[in-house]
Amino acid sequence: MDDGSGRVVAPLGSPAVLVSACLIGVRCNHLGAASTSQAVVALGRTYRLIPVCPETVGGLPTPRTAAERQPDGSIRTADGTDVTEAYRRGARHAVHLAAVTGATRAVLKARSPSCGCHEIYDGTFTRTRVAGLGVTAEALRDAGVDVVSEEDIDPPGLDGDGSASRSS
Ligand code: SF4
Repeated sequence: MDDGSGRVVAPLGSPAVLVSACLIGVRCNHLGAASTSQAVVALGRTYRLIPVCPETVGGLPTPRTAAERQPDGSIRTADGTDVTEAYRRGARHAVHLAAVTGATRAVLKARSPSCGCHEIYDGTFTRTRVAGLGVTAEALRDAGVDVVSEEDIDPPGLDGDGSASRSS
């Protein structure tokens, strides 16, 4: 459907899919930049994309100091500042947003301490990856939302290879 601006958008009534806002061009990551994924943007032709940035809605500024999830589950910056509550607040908002929009699936930014859904950085700020989830990805999964990353759909789309069921 053409919305009159030349963009092709999903028809009214299309299923809602929660997406990390940075994946569709919002400059909300910790550096104040976007992490645009054309594969995720293209989902907007079929699905009603519901953008959310848990870290900013949780009260953190943009840009902001990078943080990583620690082995005890807390989120800390490299100098040890505990920002866990802001991350949890953002996660609660994302879960609420999924519920009110009826989104049963989410496409989230890989390896983010909020949005990562298969692996995250290990908390040592050495770019070391470990299996695990970000705070929001975990909360959404626990709420029954099917969570994947942009890397799972690039290409062929949410239903193209069954990857939408590959939450971890
Ligand atoms: Fe993107 Fe999620 Fe980080 Fe926000 S919290 S910038 S949506 S990865």
